[in-house]
Formats: sequence, structure tokens, C-alpha cells
Amino acid sequence: MEKIQMVDLLSQYKTVQEEMNAAILDVIQSTRFIKGPVVHKFENDLAKHLDVKHVISCANGTDALQIALMALGLEPGDEVIVPAFTYAATAEVIGLLRLHPVMVDVDFDSFNTTAALVEGAITSKTKAIVPVHLYGQSSDMEDLMALARRKNLYVVEDNAQAIDSTYTFKNGTQIKTGTIGDIGCTSFFPSKNLGCYGDGGAMFTNNYEFARKLQMISNHGQEKKYHHSMIGVNSRLDALQAAVLNIKLKYLNQYSTSRQNIAERYDEAFKNIEQLLIPNRSQHSSHVFHQYTLRITDGRRDELKEYLQNHGIPSMIYYPIPLYNQKAFQDYHDGTLLPNTEKLCKMVLSLPIHTEMKEETLEFIVSKVQTFFNS
Ligand SMILES: *Cc1c(COP(=O)(O)O)cnc(C)c1O
Repeated sequence: MEKIQMVDLLSQYKTVQEEMNAAILDVIQSTRFIKGPVVHKFENDLAKHLDVKHVISCANGTDALQIALMALGLEPGDEVIVPAFTYAATAEVIGLLRLHPVMVDVDFDSFNTTAALVEGAITSKTKAIVPVHLYGQSSDMEDLMALARRKNLYVVEDNAQAIDSTYTFKNGTQIKTGTIGDIGCTSFFPSKNLGCYGDGGAMFTNNYEFARKLQMISNHGQEKKYHHSMIGVNSRLDALQAAVLNIKLKYLNQYSTSRQNIAERYDEAFKNIEQLLIPNRSQHSSHVFHQYTLRITDGRRDELKEYLQNHGIPSMIYYPIPLYNQKAFQDYHDGTLLPNTEKLCKMVLSLPIHTEMKEETLEFIVSKVQTFFNS
């Protein structure tokens, strides 16, 4: 059997090899490497796909978060609420901008933070919330948006793991994640659900003023060429990456379906194993399974990981340490331990999931997990 990987980008490339090579060659021959028509086409097509007014591309998902926060015009010391159970980038940019990250717990079943958890952390200094749609499923945005409007807070969605996920409001309205808050951010890191062949990222908004600011900040604060009206950064998606993304965007629905099919098989195989909790399916969100993440409830998570490794099956712990226990964030830690975050860091294990997984690979992984718990 082939070597099992968490994601298999080479096999995915091979399914689109010819059109991918042609698109990349076209960019090289056009010599329009930065901005230009290929980047604009991608921004427009993604805006259409997500049904959002403005897509502003940038160099990576971390920059997207940073630029989004810069566009809000916050003051040093202003508080921004983030879940403690996420990738460091979400909180890192807050600290970088001399804002104050306030970390809140997440729901044990959805892995996402909730309006109730956020509300308890709001102070007179709170200015924004950054919900993270972890592993591919939306946070409960209806409640979070209602809270944010009531408390006059901005909402910046970290949608790096959930692109193309759909949130359903109580009145039946369906909206793509990342386009619900004031600004949404995503990453096109190669292993993300819509990934390029290097670094890339984007911001989404329906607000013209924010769109104008995001554009300006990501391009040296320039209103027009050589007229700098504010301090900005240099953060651009290059045309080679946009060419890759233009092709992959066409297959995004199909990619999501492949992941969902694998998740269903995993669910089916694991739902009756007493020591495991399969991923919860939210009633208000579709799941695009950036990760398929089990909770191992008998304390043998690390043992399972090692057992799988010994059988050639990789698995990953996203994330092993609560953000507030990271040295980089020690200044923001008041000593409070958040119970669900603490538990999840010890329980979670993500299994291989990607768009090109073969039946026999899937069945092999399933059987090894089952054997571990049944023997
Ligand atoms: C990947 C990721 C980011 C950062 O994206 P980069 O493109 O790697 O900078 C931010 N937040 C979350 C939740 C992510 O998964």
C-alpha cells in the first residue's frame, strides 16, 4: 500500500495536472507576477462563489487577520476576544498590534466558542471578537452576531479551516462562513481545503468602507500609487498562486464532498466505540472537514497515536497546548484554566482526511483504530 499521509497534495495535483501546468506557464509567459488579471479573476470568482461583495487577497492567512484588525482602527490596549483552543496565529496578530487578546473557552462538542462564553469575558475595553470556525464547522454565528451588535463589537471571522462551509440562520437564510461578520479571513496554505502551492490568504467583507481600507492597508496604505494615506503592509497574493487557486476553486465543491464522504465512513466505523467521541454535527452549519477530529475519552490518546504511527498511519494533535499556556502569550494569562480547552488538548486526535484518499487506505485506518480499542 502507498504511504499514508494526512493530506495527499501530489495525487490531487495529478488529477488536474494538464490544466494546472498550462495555467502556471501562462503566468510565467505573461510576466504579470504580482496583481494583474489572474489575481483579479480569482478575487471575483471567489466573491461569486461565496456570495460576498468584496474579496481582497493577501499573502497568507495570518496577514489577513492582521490587516482585518488594522482596518478596525482599534487603540493599543483594546481587548479582542479569541478562543484559547485555536492555532496561535489567531491570537498572535492581536498581540502584535499591541491589542490585548482575551482568551475564552470553547464548547466541548463543537470545538468552537459560543456567545455565552464570549459574553462572560466582555469588559468596557472589549472592541472585537474573533471566532474561529475550527476543523471546518461554523461557530454559532447568529448568537455571536446578536451579542456583538448588542455590545457594539466588531466580528472578524477566522475562516482558515472552514472555507465553503454554510451557516443556516433560524429563518432559513444560508450564508457562507467568513461572510457573516464584519470581515472574514482565510488562508490558502497548501493543506487548507482551498490551498495554493505556497502561501496565500484573503479577506472578505460586504462593507465598502472596510473593503477600501483592507485594500489600502495590504498595499502600503496607498490610496493610489505613491500616495500613502496610512501606515500599511506589503501583503499580496501572487499571480502564480492565484492561477493555482483559479483551478482549484472550480473543484472546491467536489473537494468538500470527498472529505464529507470520508468523515461519514469514519463516523459509521467509530460511533459505537465506547472510548471515542466522533465529531459533533452542528444543526446550523455544514461541515467541510478540514480535520476529522476524534476525542479519546479513556486517556489513551497518545497511546493510540503511537499505535497508529507504528502501523504507518499518521495522526495529528490540533492543538496540544491551550494558547494561554504558550510562553508567547504568558503576559495575557491571569492563571484561569479553561476547562473544555484543557480537556480537549488532552483528548483530540485528527486522522488523515483529504480529497484523494483511496478506499483501501480508509479501510486500513478504520480497522487499525477499531483493533486498538477492541483488543
Ligand atoms: C492556517 C491557519 C491560520 C494561518 O494561516 P497562514 O496562511 O498559515 O498564515 C490562522 N488561523 C487558523 C485557524 C488556521 O488554521
